[in-house]
Amino acid sequence: MTVVTPAGKLTPVLSDSWDKEQGYSLESYRRNGGYQGLDKALRMERSEIVDLVKASGLRGRGGAGFPTGLKWSFLPPDDGKPRYLVVNADESEPGTCKDIPTMMGNPHVLLEGIAITSRAIRCEHAFIYLRGEVVHVYRRLLNAVRELEEAGIIGEGLGPNGDFNLKITVHAGAGAYICGEETALLDSLEGMRGHPRLKPPFPAVAGLYARPTVVNNVESIASVVGILNHGAEWFGAMGTEKSKGHGLFSVSGHVKHPGQFEAPFGITMRELIEMAGGIREGHQLKFWTPGGSSTPIFTAEQLDMPLDYDSCSQAGSMLGTRALQVFDETTSVVRVITRWTEFYQHESCGKCTPCREGTYWLKQVMLRLEAGQGQEGDVDLLLDIANNIAGRSFCALGDAAATPIKSGIEHFREEFEAGLTTPARELFPYEASAVF
Ligand code: NAD
Ligand code: SF4
Repeated sequence: MTVVTPAGKLTPVLSDSWDKEQGYSLESYRRNGGYQGLDKALRMERSEIVDLVKASGLRGRGGAGFPTGLKWSFLPPDDGKPRYLVVNADESEPGTCKDIPTMMGNPHVLLEGIAITSRAIRCEHAFIYLRGEVVHVYRRLLNAVRELEEAGIIGEGLGPNGDFNLKITVHAGAGAYICGEETALLDSLEGMRGHPRLKPPFPAVAGLYARPTVVNNVESIASVVGILNHGAEWFGAMGTEKSKGHGLFSVSGHVKHPGQFEAPFGITMRELIEMAGGIREGHQLKFWTPGGSSTPIFTAEQLDMPLDYDSCSQAGSMLGTRALQVFDETTSVVRVITRWTEFYQHESCGKCTPCREGTYWLKQVMLRLEAGQGQEGDVDLLLDIANNIAGRSFCALGDAAATPIKSGIEHFREEFEAGLTTPARELFPYEASAVF
């Protein structure tokens, strides 16, 4: 194996100012070249900006990896009526924690990305839909938007031709995970209860208030700034052939130094664990997740797999949100998956039967296995329920609930079987697995 020094692998682009004193302020951001990308964009044709982002190969950083420039180009021809940009900042996937530090540490890179994107698609009113619980981020974004308005960087009649108009609204949700699903998010923004909508039509055609809308993740929009500043080639030189650029990899759990590592796509989990100081002293890796709780669990076998969209897909997973949760041998896989299952059951919006009913039954069976009170046939019952949810639910939440159960049983069936007689707390005492 090639030994890579951490410094040689990291590419701090979005995270470079996180440790700077008041790095979140407009003054600090501008001192370091901030808003030059917007100046450039205001001198370009709209189609040139879209083409540049397409050429960069930037793919959606919210989890699904849909090409960003292509998504923008799906907007119908401009009819002069409103069209919107909505930033999905409802980061709630268990283990996922990349957008919240980005917005806290460097809110202006997101706002500059919003301004550039709005210029590209001719949006005059952009929204940031933020997870409601993160009040500190809400305040930071409101302050940053106010700074922009006071500095005359957004407003009306701006730019060299006086035709750049932009208002940015920060909206805090009410704490429902389903509102991170883009169409439920749009319902919620419109003042309704967040329920996923039938697709097509995709938001690009009929989104907010039934108008053409681009919905993009925080990191996707923030990444546009570097592309404007340094070009598509600079961006494409990082990463792999089909997963270009830099990304935030969030390493949490049983490592010595959990944290955010901004690195090119294609970095491996082995390299990231090494950068995080390794597994905690005296312990070994048991399993990990590539993209939070909604992706299958991986083991030491996948440590050298490049973390890019295609390699993950070949290994039977989405790359997802790069929420890399590490669990060592003191962890009960049954206990971990029970917590995730409780989460999905609680967050199921109830719109469709397989997910509403299925997550309830998954939770009942997982709870009794965790308590060592499982019944004969429970492990097969779990698989049966999971297979009746996956692919039969209205949105991705149902699939997400089924995935860890299926892969958990695939890798650690004997631990699930042990739940017929022995409580997880006896097999894996909680004190031994606690990190803090
Ligand atoms: P998806 O593949 O259905 O869509 C991805 C994006 O591409 C959407 O914006 C969609 O509108 C667009 N798109 C797809 N096909 C299109 C077409 N033909 N025309 C126009 N636009 C098109 O995925 P999804 O259900 O939006 O997202 C699932 C992902 O969300 C998972 O990877 C999961 O990891 C991630 N996720 C993230 C979080 C978080 O906290 N960040 C939470 C839950 C899930
Ligand atoms: Fe709601 Fe679950 Fe159905 Fe999605 S899969 S629409 S969250 S009930």
